Amino acid sequence: MNANLYALFASRFPKDRAACCIETADGALYSWDDVERASARIANLLASLGLPPAARIAVQVEKSAEALILYLATIRAGYVYLPLNTAYRAAEIDYFIDNAAPSVVVCAPENFGWTSQIAFKHGTAHVFTLGEARNGSLLARATPQSDHFETVQSQPDDLAAILYTSGTTGRSKGAMLSHRNLSSNALTLQKFWHWKTGDVLLHALPLFHVHGLFVACHGALLNGSKTIFLARFDAAEVIRHLPRATVFMGVPTFYVRLLADRAFTREACRTIRLFVSGSAPLLVDTFDGFTKRTGHVILERYGMSETTMLTSNPYTGERRGGTVGMPLPEVDARVVDALGQRCTSGEIGAIEVKGPNVFHGYWQMPEKTAEEFTADGFFRTGDVGRFDTDGYLSIVGRSKDLIITGGYNVYPKEIESVLDEMTGVQESAVIGVPHCDFGEAVTAVIVCRADAALSEATIIAELKARIANFKVPKRIYFVADLPRNTMGKVQKNVLREKFRDA
Ligand code: AMP
Repeated sequence: MNANLYALFASRFPKDRAACCIETADGALYSWDDVERASARIANLLASLGLPPAARIAVQVEKSAEALILYLATIRAGYVYLPLNTAYRAAEIDYFIDNAAPSVVVCAPENFGWTSQIAFKHGTAHVFTLGEARNGSLLARATPQSDHFETVQSQPDDLAAILYTSGTTGRSKGAMLSHRNLSSNALTLQKFWHWKTGDVLLHALPLFHVHGLFVACHGALLNGSKTIFLARFDAAEVIRHLPRATVFMGVPTFYVRLLADRAFTREACRTIRLFVSGSAPLLVDTFDGFTKRTGHVILERYGMSETTMLTSNPYTGERRGGTVGMPLPEVDARVVDALGQRCTSGEIGAIEVKGPNVFHGYWQMPEKTAEEFTADGFFRTGDVGRFDTDGYLSIVGRSKDLIITGGYNVYPKEIESVLDEMTGVQESAVIGVPHCDFGEAVTAVIVCRADAALSEATIIAELKARIANFKVPKRIYFVADLPRNTMGKVQKNVLREKFRDA
């Protein structure tokens, strides 16, 4: 059997190949047949270039149906897809191209000058362009190619993609994912989230990340479901398209923004059967507010570039706010203490995972890879969490965010939860900043609600009444917004830098 991920998708395409696979916001329709033939043309182009086996195809382009088709073509042709965040600038692209040594780079037409300069300097032989308006040299070169392509035979462990981690500490690392990693997770999620005939996915996530590219697109492709493709998230656009969709996936920020829009009502969501959240913690406030407004209970899941999806709240059982649910079928997840012993329920520790979805290591970093796996083959996620007695996992933070103050461990999430419950607090981030006495001083950064009158002194007094003294922030700072990356994650490194000398 061919383990190529595209072969799996193609085996699930609907019988009616003229049915719609992708609809874009500007009304363009791509049938399953169109996707098959367009990906064949690009696969033929790639195959004609005489690339080495497992060649990397690095792609930094705006979201479009053609960008998704390029991904499918790469997989089909047996090459390795390497998506890059569209926010990256020259210095970052230089690092990725140097590190991954791609044979082909595809960039936005307006970035061709500087990108090709970097690519050619590092020995990349081919640089193509692909624009949002179906323009650029990639499609021009692919158009004369045959629209038939025999999908390459792949082995389960052959690489399909490399995803660079966001690299908030140290350099970004390339997580190597195989065809088996991706197909096993896609099949698991299709079943676990009850994908059905007639489902329509409304897609507003970026395509360079595990959430938008794998979790969302793979689900629809595997299910033979139509996707309504929005170039970017815009609350009004999402609300406009929701009534024609049944599944929506987002980062927590999407849900916060939808709730901030009065047009987001129960009526607007009447056709939806599943709202999924992930990539960053969903505040309980947002989770509850969403149910109150729409009657829907958001399903929160947890995963990462290195592993794709690991845990999920149940589809039919109770979805618990503030938790990321239970390990998915085939995923083994454990929480361990500093000695590597399993924690009992309620106890906080490091989250380690194993399963067919767990990646093959970091590209060109064997030592780093070895460090991140235990002797019995579990991957150290770097996340800290706890299982409750019913088996629901809560993420408490990243191990690198742990604050050690005067020898005590402080988990930021615990204090953030208390702060977020206070009247007048919209959201908070707790960080450690260097302190001559304590090593690190617990510091809170708070966004207040519009009408709130909060002071540093009142917040500290309230915290003192509720949590141990060593956990109480030494200082509280008020800001208008927390810095977030495109996936909605709070950039604590930015906050640590900003308040380090405070
Ligand atoms: P990335 O590789 O960019 O997807 O980032 C993965 C990281 O995002 C994980 O290691 C977690 O720290 C975080 N993450 C993903 N999903 C959740 C979630 N539902 N709740 C809290 N953190 C999450």
